[in-house]
Amino acid sequence: MKFVFLGPPGAGKGTLAVRMTELLNAPHVSTGNIFREAIAAANPLGLKVKAIIDAGKLVDDGTTIQLVRERLTQSDVKDSYILDGFPRTIAQAEALAGFSNIDRVINFDAPDDVVIERLSGRLVCRKCGFNWHKTFNPPEKSGVCDKCGGEIYTREDDKAEAVKKRLDVYREQTAPLIEYYRKKDLMIDIDARPDVDSIVENLKKLLRL
Ligand code: AMP
Repeated sequence: MKFVFLGPPGAGKGTLAVRMTELLNAPHVSTGNIFREAIAAANPLGLKVKAIIDAGKLVDDGTTIQLVRERLTQSDVKDSYILDGFPRTIAQAEALAGFSNIDRVINFDAPDDVVIERLSGRLVCRKCGFNWHKTFNPPEKSGVCDKCGGEIYTREDDKAEAVKKRLDVYREQTAPLIEYYRKKDLMIDIDARPDVDSIVENLKKLLRL
């Protein structure tokens, strides 16, 4: 099955996608991860998008759509995938409908105070990408990933100014997708406030896994 994970920044889409990829037998495709890898590699895409992402704005539709269109031609995602962080605009959703048929959209719903608390404490491993949290899930040794020994850092776009911008962008450009997909009868709503394990259990029930 082909899934889209929708929701505000900080709702836990990425963490849940990592957890659900095996259960759903669907590869995780995250546009944010692809952009961050490009930035780390300092390749032309990375150089183009770094300032935009650091400021909490959206990369232009043309660049993003092309990237996903290409990724979805690969054989591992022929029958199933979890798209995390795409689409983020109506134009992206319309383009996606032209090159892939999605089966379900999971809408991860969480209020501003919850997502701000999560994002402002988030720590990310530079090597394996695992998400830690200063308060809720700190690594044993400060600055070092327990899973792989990689260096842990705060994403530039998790700093207060950028978080505010990302939430504004979400409300203006991404939230309209909720109605867009609801009308197409593809939507499953899930409360993204509980801890990850509880959300996984709820998802399993909703998807009859
Ligand atoms: P994420 O890891 O999904 O929060 O994405 C991090 C950042 O990458 C976003 O704040 C945007 O700047 C950029 N980005 C990721 N996905 C998209 C998208 N579908 N359209 C435009 N920009 C995106």
